[in-house]
Amino acid sequence: MNEEFYLKLRNDSAAGFFLTDESALQILISDQLELLPLLNAAYELRKQFVGKSVSIHILNNAQNGYCPEDCHYCAQAKSSQAGIEEYPLKSDEEILTEAKNAYEKGAHRYCMVFAGRGPSQKRTEHLAALIQKIKSQYPVEVCVSAGLLDEGKAKILKNAGLDRLNHNLNTSQRHYPKICTTHTYKDRLNTMKAARQVGLQICSGVIAGMGEGPEDIIEMAKTVAKMEVSSIPVNFYMPIEGVSLGNHVTLTPEYCLRVLCLFRFLNPKAEIRIAAGREIHLRSMEVMALYPANSLFLDGYLNTKGEERQRTFQMIKDAGFTIKSEIPLDEFIQDELNPKISLKNKEDLHFLKSL
Ligand code: SF4
Repeated sequence: MNEEFYLKLRNDSAAGFFLTDESALQILISDQLELLPLLNAAYELRKQFVGKSVSIHILNNAQNGYCPEDCHYCAQAKSSQAGIEEYPLKSDEEILTEAKNAYEKGAHRYCMVFAGRGPSQKRTEHLAALIQKIKSQYPVEVCVSAGLLDEGKAKILKNAGLDRLNHNLNTSQRHYPKICTTHTYKDRLNTMKAARQVGLQICSGVIAGMGEGPEDIIEMAKTVAKMEVSSIPVNFYMPIEGVSLGNHVTLTPEYCLRVLCLFRFLNPKAEIRIAAGREIHLRSMEVMALYPANSLFLDGYLNTKGEERQRTFQMIKDAGFTIKSEIPLDEFIQDELNPKISLKNKEDLHFLKSL
């Protein structure tokens, strides 16, 4: 590819033109493509629209396991034999305390994740009351991941003050029946449409590496663009012992980077998050992912080892990026090196939640 190719990708995207399928396919699979100019073109867009900082997200499961669905990649699915710690819904008091901690540590947004197909009417009303309590006590944005919702339930949550709904697309329409049989792609899309219809912001991501082809990745990147999704977690499938999808993965670090670049070209203003699988699939190329993406998951803070947090913070600093936080990046690095200084308590990491 000549220089013009990369320049055109950047300029067309910045001007709001959609990539052609041919260009999108070239980004993913052409052996004429060179990675550094591609990353640079994606980085120029990232810088222009979302700056040089990295948002760090920490998963906060309000409930784990007990799911009747059979998403083949998920350790919480009914079909999964993976050994996970199951716990029912946390109490209102526990959730309110977490929201309070998040707010007091400067969090901009507080996120709650619930396993399951979707909330019943009763559960939706309970969730709405909880959202109202959080919003009346703390001026934080609230995001919820609660499974399938119709417009009526989405409206109840919106009226309670919910700001953003997370509902992942996961894979393409064509590929969906191969990764789940208990609900459909259309169910997922309808939930996103319901959220949009009632005025909620949408966070919706994908999982690459589940046996889909490049065309499926392109379709997903275009769908989230058409749905004006503001936050896009890009996961790379991590085989977990016991899940029904199995452990056959063909992802390479270079392909993962190409996928992230494609999402940036098609969604230049979105928050694009390197989600699950970044260490395993990006390996020595991990830091390069910060050029197209501007956000990452630091998986569940309770079980993420200190060395891993320190390594991630150091990687961000070494590459010349900053984090979206009121506490300087150096303070986090120091705290992981020597927990006795600066941050007194790991609870302080709460404040990073979904900034
Ligand atoms: S609905 Fe969610 S929690 Fe349940 S199996 Fe699917 S991905 Fe896992």
